[in-house]
Amino acid sequence: MTRLIFLGPPGAGKGTQAKALADHWQIPHISTGDILRQALKEQTPLGIKAQSYMDKGELVPDHLVQAMVEERLKQPDTEPGWILDGFPRTVQQASFLEGLLQKLEQRGERVVNLDVPDDIVVGRLLERGRKDDNEDVIRRRLEVYRSETAPLIDYYSSKQQLLIVNGNQSLEEVTIELTKAIA
Ligand code: ADP
Repeated sequence: MTRLIFLGPPGAGKGTQAKALADHWQIPHISTGDILRQALKEQTPLGIKAQSYMDKGELVPDHLVQAMVEERLKQPDTEPGWILDGFPRTVQQASFLEGLLQKLEQRGERVVNLDVPDDIVVGRLLERGRKDDNEDVIRRRLEVYRSETAPLIDYYSSKQQLLIVNGNQSLEEVTIELTKAIA
């Protein structure tokens, strides 16, 4: 049973690594960024509400993302495990998740922090060229990461749930280090 939460700044390579491991273990890769971008593309009520936040590099309000994750984790395909990528992003979301996993009897989650220095991350995001990857929005996403999400490193570390992996190496090397850390 693998239940894994990926932490790390935008551009750390969470999505790439989470997808590779999820394919390998045949468990769902649950990316809140992907779900939100899909909702936005389809202009669902959630997508319409989320758009202005995403365009500015702000976090979508906790209650919206939390409801979305709750719905997703209730799907039967999460039975053999899951990888969460992009959630939780605030201490409030982390404490919501803890309660939710308790309720769904899905505890035993572990947390991986993909550690990458800021200057490397900005370079990667500028190269990636997603719609919300222009320089101002990137700068804002990093500020939000530092103030809202980075505190989760201490939060999980004090619960002895945290594994730290150096994300500043080749994709293959990161995958190898991750696999070793999780084994
Ligand atoms: P990145 O890894 O580059 O930060 P994501 O694809 O994870 O990008 O997220 C893109 C955007 O979606 C974020 O900037 C934010 O607006 C929104 N988002 C994703 N996950 C969350 C979350 N857990 N809470 C609030 N907003 C979120």
